[in-house]
Amino acid sequence: MPIIEVRDLDLHYGKHHALKKIRMDIEERSIVALIGPSGCGKSTYLRTLNRMNDMIAGVTISGQVKISGVDIYQTEIGTELLRRNVGMVFQQPNPFPKSIYDNVAYGPRLHGITKRSTLDEIVETSLKKGALWDEVKDMLKKPAYGLSGGQQQRLCIARALSINPEILLMDEPTSALDPISTAKIEELLGELQKSYTIVIVTHNMQQAARISQSTGFFLNGELVEYDRTSSIYQNP
Ligand code: ADP
Ligand code: ADP
Repeated sequence: MPIIEVRDLDLHYGKHHALKKIRMDIEERSIVALIGPSGCGKSTYLRTLNRMNDMIAGVTISGQVKISGVDIYQTEIGTELLRRNVGMVFQQPNPFPKSIYDNVAYGPRLHGITKRSTLDEIVETSLKKGALWDEVKDMLKKPAYGLSGGQQQRLCIARALSINPEILLMDEPTSALDPISTAKIEELLGELQKSYTIVIVTHNMQQAARISQSTGFFLNGELVEYDRTSSIYQNP
């Protein structure tokens, strides 16, 4: 069974029809790249998988988004499952104005974990998953804003993983970064894929070809093509 199943997903911003009858199955432990021109609905779609559009005034959504078989729009269990199960990373690194440690401990604390040794362990494990531990282990109490842009983005990845999600949603996570930081994050994604399902919006087709198994092309709110990345890119 796919970990994410989307059926007939429709979204309007007021009268603007931003997503049109999207259907998509996403296999567990795969990387799916979402590409397409600016304004075609990629971000909107990504946010729909995390129920981040619900709060926006004037948004209407219909259709189904199932995660591990549960319709996330239909049940309270869905919402709870979602909070624990889906992490998100944005284009601009957005660490909280807190220490490196407190950034990563934030989610676990929200979920009621208070024991210092447990938090220490989660912070270390998460920073290792974000390939940042070696660089920051001696400065955990320092403010996150002291890190470079690439380090801040890896901190945001570590923060997203600290709640132990199964799914990681990423909205152009390397667009604001230099090529070396981008390469580091691409390498990291290959590693993370062994444990997580990753859906990533990118405007960079080469990046999609490098990192993903499946690619979805959006155009005007429609998913016009969704296939194995290898078959999409073999006849350029
Ligand atoms: P993409 O990520 O592909 O650039 P978006 O999902 O951000 O596209 O936007 C899709 C369309 O929906 C665009 O026309 C955009 O202007 C519109 N849109 C996005 N967010 C909002 C919003 N909060 N309110 C109204 N319209 C929006
Ligand atoms: P409420 O808590 O007000 O009953 P829901 O939590 O059920 O509303 O839904 C919140 C948002 O999700 C609303 O914008 C609604 O239009 C949308 N929505 C409701 N059901 C679905 C569904 N099956 N698929 C996608 N979106 C839905």
